[in-house]
Amino acid sequence: MKPAPFAYATPSTLDGVFDLLARSGEDTRLLAGGQSLVPTLAFRLSTPSLLIDLNRVAGLSGITASGDTVRIGAMTRHCELEHSSVIAAKLPMVAQAMPQIGHPAIRTRGTIGGSLAFADPAAELPACAVALGARIVIASREGTRRVPARDFFKGLYETDLRTGELIAAIEFPAQPPGYRSRLAELARRHGDYALVGLGAHAKVDGDRLSDLRLAFFGVSSRPALAAQAVRELEGQRLSPTVLALAGEALGDDLDPPDDLNGSGRTKLHLARVLLSRTLSGMVGA
Ligand SMILES: Cc1cc2nc3c(=O)[nH]c(=O)nc-3n(C[C@H](O)[C@H](O)[C@H](O)COP(=O)(O)OP(=O)(O)OC[C@H]3O[C@@H](n4cnc5c(N)ncnc54)[C@H](O)[C@@H]3O)c2cc1C
Repeated sequence: MKPAPFAYATPSTLDGVFDLLARSGEDTRLLAGGQSLVPTLAFRLSTPSLLIDLNRVAGLSGITASGDTVRIGAMTRHCELEHSSVIAAKLPMVAQAMPQIGHPAIRTRGTIGGSLAFADPAAELPACAVALGARIVIASREGTRRVPARDFFKGLYETDLRTGELIAAIEFPAQPPGYRSRLAELARRHGDYALVGLGAHAKVDGDRLSDLRLAFFGVSSRPALAAQAVRELEGQRLSPTVLALAGEALGDDLDPPDDLNGSGRTKLHLARVLLSRTLSGMVGA
C-alpha cells in the first residue's frame, strides 16, 4: 500500500512549527525519524492531512551536559546516543539501551523525541526515562513545561502531549557517583522489540542496593515502576532469599496481559528471571 495523500511542510524554526500547528487541524502529524510513523502511513493506519517535518528545525538536536543534568534534544538520533562519550559516562543505562533498539539503519534515523512521543510500551527509551527520573521538556507557542517521565506516559501509545505541543528535549539527571544502572531485556531475536525488559538504577554499596528504581517494559501499557519489589530490596543485602521475596512481590507490581508473544504468566516469569539476573549483575560488577 501507499500512504494517502497529505500536505508536507519543512519549517526551519520552532516558531514556524507552532504557526503551522496553530493553523492546521487535529489530524496534523510531526515527522521526526519516520521509523514508526512512515510504516503507519504506508499501511494507512495514520492518514494525516499535513506532515510537519522537524528535520530542518534549528536547535532541536544535540547532547549537552551541564552540572548534574544531561539535556538531549528531541531530534537527537539513536546512533548519536549510541556513540556519545557523554552518554557512556553520564547515562550508562541509555548507552546500554542503544544497541538493543532495532538495527543500525533504524538507529541512524530514529530519534529520542520520536521514541518517547510514540510511547510504544515495549520500547527501551521510555523505560530509561522513567527509571532515571528524566523530565520531558514540552514546547508550544505558549511556552515550555516540564513533565516527569513517570507522569508523561499515560497508556498504550498515549502521552501527556496536548494539541499544539511537541517534545523539545529530555533532561536526565547524570548518574551520581556510587550508583549503577542496567538495561536488560529478553527478545526473540537481537533487535526485536523486548518480550520483557528492565531498566534498573540504584546506589550500590557492596552487595546492598538503595535508592532503587525498577522500570519494566513490554509488560504493561506503559513503563511500569515495581514499587513492591523495591520495598523488599531497599537497603537489603542481595541474597537468594531477598531475590525470591522481591520476585514474589513483583506479582503485585505487574499484571502482564496475554499477547501474541505469550501468556501473562510467562511474561511475569520472564520478568522475575530478568530481575534476578539484572540485580545480581549490578552488585557483582
Ligand atoms: C523494524 C523496526 C524495529 C524497531 N525496533 C525497535 C526497538 O527494538 N526498540 C525501540 O524502542 N524502537 C524500535 N523501533 C522504533 C524506532 O526506535 C523509532 O525510531 C522510534 O520509535 C520513533 O522515532 P522516530 O524518530 O522514527 O519517530 P517518527 O516515526 O517520526 O514519529 C513517531 C511518532 O512520534 C511523533 N513525534 C516525533 N517526534 C516528535 C516530537 N519531537 N514531539 C512530539 N511528537 C513527535 C510523530 O508525530 C509520530 O506520531 C523499531 C522500528 C522499526 C521500523
